[in-house]
Amino acid sequence: MASIQPVPGWLRAPDDANALAPSVWPSSAHRDHDGRLVVGGVSAAELAERFGTPLYVVDESDARARAARMLAAFEAAAASVGTSVTVYYAGKAFLSGAIVRWVTEAGLGVDVCTGGELAVALAAGADPARIGFHGNNKSVAEIERAVEAGVGTIVIDSEIEIDRVADAAARAGRVQGVRLRVNSGVHASTHEFLATAHEDQKFGVTLERAVEIGTRIRGFDSLDLVGLHCHIGSQIFDSAGFAESAERLLVAHAELARLAPLPELNLGGGFGIAYPSADEPAPIEQIALGIATAVADGCRDHGVPVPKLAFEPGRAIIGPAGVTLYTVGTVKPVPLDGGPWRHYVSVDGGMSDNIRTALYGADYTVRLAGRVSDETPSLVRVAGKHCESGDIVVDADYLPHDVGPGDLVAVAATGAYCWSLANNYNHVPRRPVVAVRDGMARVIVHGETEDDLLSRDAELAASGSSIETESPERSDTSDAAGGAPA
Ligand SMILES: *Cc1c(COP(=O)(O)O)cnc(C)c1O
Repeated sequence: MASIQPVPGWLRAPDDANALAPSVWPSSAHRDHDGRLVVGGVSAAELAERFGTPLYVVDESDARARAARMLAAFEAAAASVGTSVTVYYAGKAFLSGAIVRWVTEAGLGVDVCTGGELAVALAAGADPARIGFHGNNKSVAEIERAVEAGVGTIVIDSEIEIDRVADAAARAGRVQGVRLRVNSGVHASTHEFLATAHEDQKFGVTLERAVEIGTRIRGFDSLDLVGLHCHIGSQIFDSAGFAESAERLLVAHAELARLAPLPELNLGGGFGIAYPSADEPAPIEQIALGIATAVADGCRDHGVPVPKLAFEPGRAIIGPAGVTLYTVGTVKPVPLDGGPWRHYVSVDGGMSDNIRTALYGADYTVRLAGRVSDETPSLVRVAGKHCESGDIVVDADYLPHDVGPGDLVAVAATGAYCWSLANNYNHVPRRPVVAVRDGMARVIVHGETEDDLLSRDAELAASGSSIETESPERSDTSDAAGGAPA
């Protein structure tokens, strides 16, 4: 949603509208001698030429490094309070075969929440024992598949699910590891958290009933309650909300742990990243230590052993590793009341490839990607091509004044929740994802063509060849070197 203020309070006109803030761009991002953005050793111009735009680009080394750093941070924090940790990559941020391989090779498990995500994780070779399966309305078929695949832990989200999971496990002749999702009443984002007695949301059982429901789970021979689970929000910049939530959860954890061993505690994901450079999340090492310390202190107060910890970061691993390339089509200056002019820079994608701005009022950073310019920075709003005035990709940033049709631009930190939320609004084919590393680019997820869209239309597909189709605009580039699927 466009902000009410013409210019958001945090936004400052940059001294240099070509600069790439290191906190926002993939670690390999830089400009070459011609001023072109280079990611993973490949220039944006080359990527755009080979694969077309819009294009999702993921820096493989950066994603792998973030996964490894996340694991190391939590391992160090856990060790400092005498325990250990499992870190699951939250697949909903962006799940594909390549990404499952990167995160599992870094030593992470995978967190999934549907049969489709489970299928990708398994097909990519993730160890089922290191998969967690959550969700507030898993179908019986999904639960059965997870049990049969040997998924390590299933997160029970409601009382109704207890029997479903217990029955599926009993039918499969297994003892299924489960966690119980508890709503701690803490909802956190960025610098703040809200702590209420009852959070009004669909996920999890209430804190007051956690012991009773946990005890009920323990009554089933086919279930093994390994611990409580909670997830307090997203885009969180420090440990305060996690610590508050952990303290609340530990009351129920301790009571259950006094009745029978309760070896683990899963505090979910939600670790924030910088979208504009004004975002300043604390280093993950500091957040991890803050959480581990709060858990250890709480356990000491309650007189119970410190459980093994678990976390589920998604965005913080894949978000900053991704950028999206677009081509500018039109530029329209609009005078703002008593303020500067805003230039609407319309690009060839929009809410079909990145719906976060329209959906959450998310902020992003945009830069010229095919060249630099020393023209004065102008206030811009990057808009998409969809028939919707809320179709905004970047609400407010600055680009050099001479930005114009044909310019290649890059939007930073689009690795999480962009491809995974992509849609076909206005019959726009979904775009491919290219991984870059050491000067090489390869398609890791194919794009769609207009033929793909037509083939799903039962009426048009049935009349088959009688429908005349022009060769789709992008059929030659949407998969390009990756080879088009049949
Ligand atoms: C969304 C979600 C995550 C991941 O959140 P990020 O903000 O991407 O780290 C982890 N666990 C659960 C249960 C979630 O719903």
